[in-house]
Amino acid sequence: MNAHAKTPSELPFYASQANEVALFEQAWQHGLPVLIKGPTGCGKTRFIQHMAARLNLPLFTVACHDDLTAADLVGRHLVGSEGTWWQDGPLTRAVREGGICYLDEVVEARKDTTVVLHPLADDRRELPLERTGELLKAPPGFMLVVSYNPGYQNLLKGMKPSTRQRFVALRFDYPNSAVEQQIIQAETGADPRLAAKLVQLATALRRLEQHDLEEVASTRLLIYCARLIQAGLPAREAALACLGEALSDDLQTVAALMDVVDVHL
Ligand code: ADP
Repeated sequence: MNAHAKTPSELPFYASQANEVALFEQAWQHGLPVLIKGPTGCGKTRFIQHMAARLNLPLFTVACHDDLTAADLVGRHLVGSEGTWWQDGPLTRAVREGGICYLDEVVEARKDTTVVLHPLADDRRELPLERTGELLKAPPGFMLVVSYNPGYQNLLKGMKPSTRQRFVALRFDYPNSAVEQQIIQAETGADPRLAAKLVQLATALRRLEQHDLEEVASTRLLIYCARLIQAGLPAREAALACLGEALSDDLQTVAALMDVVDVHL
């Protein structure tokens, strides 16, 4: 499988937080599906991109939404000038090609998707294509990965126990300060001083979580902010656009966030 293994510099940059790389590799080797839960912008997608490249596997990513049906994952018949033909969906392609199918925010998807996910996520590892009459057996390379954000907006949605108990589950969170600083520097070329200040600011903002905020400052937003500052925008303006206004619509809350910005930037 690793005949064309990539060197570390060819892999999408990923700073690990704990033992997630080894765990993921083991899950893949044993044909086990993985569930990653964590807040938005904490590195879930980057981790999967990194692991797919590391394991030399094609990656099929699906951003799930509340209209996403089983047919969107599996495929459908399309009508063209030459008649009707079948088009594989991303899940079917991942199974046929032996790659990773990553369903981002899986709890958003319609419930009928569980019908196709369950037999793939347990030891059957098979995908029935009702419409074509095929029963696909997943090859060893295939892996199903799903993620969701267990933040408050998903409290009611959650995942059914019968679904979640088919997955090896990993909890992600924002990286610790040293790792987050390393990420900001690597992703934006920011100098260590600016990166350290942004991490301190994020730490202070994250303490405000209980105050009216749906989400706290993510690593992604810190990266945006560092990029704009690097591009020459005054730090306060960058922070207002990337942190204050990005995190809240409420004027008073934005003002409170900017008070924290003024202490740290
Ligand atoms: P999620 O999928 O959890 O919403 P992403 O994986 O898209 O978040 O992360 C957002 C951005 O933050 C990435 O594009 C990357 O620049 C950066 N990032 C976050 N965590 C890491 C990490 N551990 N290593 C490298 N980059 C990271």
